[in-house]
Amino acid sequence: MSCRSFDPAALKREFPGLADSGLHYLDNAATAQMPETVLQALYRFEIEARANVHEGAHRRARAATVALTEARSQVARFLNAHGPDEVVFTYGTTSSLNLLARTFGASLDPGDEILLSVLEHHSNLVPWQRLASARGLVLRFLPMTPDGRIDMGRLTSELTPRCRLVAMTHCSNVTGAITDVAPLVAAARVVGAKVLLDGAQRAPHGPLDMRALGVDFYAFSGHKTYGPTGIGVLWGRRELLEALPPFLTGGQMIEEVTLTSATFRPPPRRFEAGTPPIAGAIGLGTALGWMQSLDWRAIRKHEVHLTRRLLDGLASIKGARVLGPMDTEDRRGVVTFCVDAIAPTDVCRHLDGHGVALRGGHHCAQPLVRAFGVEGAARASLGPYSLDGDVDALLNGLEELVQGRRGPKARDGKGVPR
Ligand code: PLP
Repeated sequence: MSCRSFDPAALKREFPGLADSGLHYLDNAATAQMPETVLQALYRFEIEARANVHEGAHRRARAATVALTEARSQVARFLNAHGPDEVVFTYGTTSSLNLLARTFGASLDPGDEILLSVLEHHSNLVPWQRLASARGLVLRFLPMTPDGRIDMGRLTSELTPRCRLVAMTHCSNVTGAITDVAPLVAAARVVGAKVLLDGAQRAPHGPLDMRALGVDFYAFSGHKTYGPTGIGVLWGRRELLEALPPFLTGGQMIEEVTLTSATFRPPPRRFEAGTPPIAGAIGLGTALGWMQSLDWRAIRKHEVHLTRRLLDGLASIKGARVLGPMDTEDRRGVVTFCVDAIAPTDVCRHLDGHGVALRGGHHCAQPLVRAFGVEGAARASLGPYSLDGDVDALLNGLEELVQGRRGPKARDGKGVPR
């Protein structure tokens, strides 16, 4: 597919929620904004095709079913999956991971092991904790390097022949570090373990290739990939999904029901009980198609530039400390930081007064944040529409807070005050 030339300011104008808002939106890792094309697709669905899917005999139900089917195919193209039947619609990364814990987890025996890392979001930690206590499993953890990456040096000692699943983040929502997937997959294959990636923070950064990654399961959320809230994806290899039992049960996922028994449809519908999030899926399909039209090489260059500006700017502010790598290699534009003697909530509140949207707290990764020796931190996360001015507004506002000084400062090309 040919892609459009990239201009961040022009891209920002495609987002009605951002253009002319005066807002420096740097909370993209929590929820990204939606472009006009997605808003239009949602509006068109509600006006022209709003109906329930699958068994409808009328034209609106057929239109809704066609739109849902096309959305699934679009997700499969974004992931370079083997086919749309490998794409399960869920309500978000959290529901995808819980689905897998309940279904894949049902086949695990006492003493079986799951390998995680200390960088996991609670969504990829707590479901496995619950499963482990219910089934007598052992959870093992890869530790963190001092700069906030998964320590692959411990892979051979922590990945034992009892390991049945390696479940790791593809990109940390705290440190921004990207996981080196190839050694994980290679080591997991040796012991016969399956590999699941939590892609919530990687999927917003461009199309993926499930065949090249070589993993078995992948989870991500629509609201972080420029789509609606309440929709997510669990991708799984066809033969693995086929072997899993249902998760939720009820309408839409059955083949035949008697008063005392039921048989279930093949995947993906086996895992989609009840009315699916139809509008969400259609919006997500549109969002991923929109993502595929972009020049991600150019966006990456821009992201590296802004991340460097942010890291250098923070390094120049007295008392500010970044939780994560200070280089821009193998990390995304997710920068978490704390400031001596100032609570993260105060940092966020002060910056909100400057029109800068940040997030503060433990970022649903309490063990990780505590591993850095703090209880919470502020986080700035970039989107493809982020501009130098957004980063500078953050840095100026923060410096004002730290020094009690008023007025914006001119910054050089690296974001450092002149
Ligand atoms: N995993 C990671 C790495 C995340 O950053 C998040 C959300 O921030 C999640 C999982 C959970 O995503 P959701 O709340 O959309 O289910």
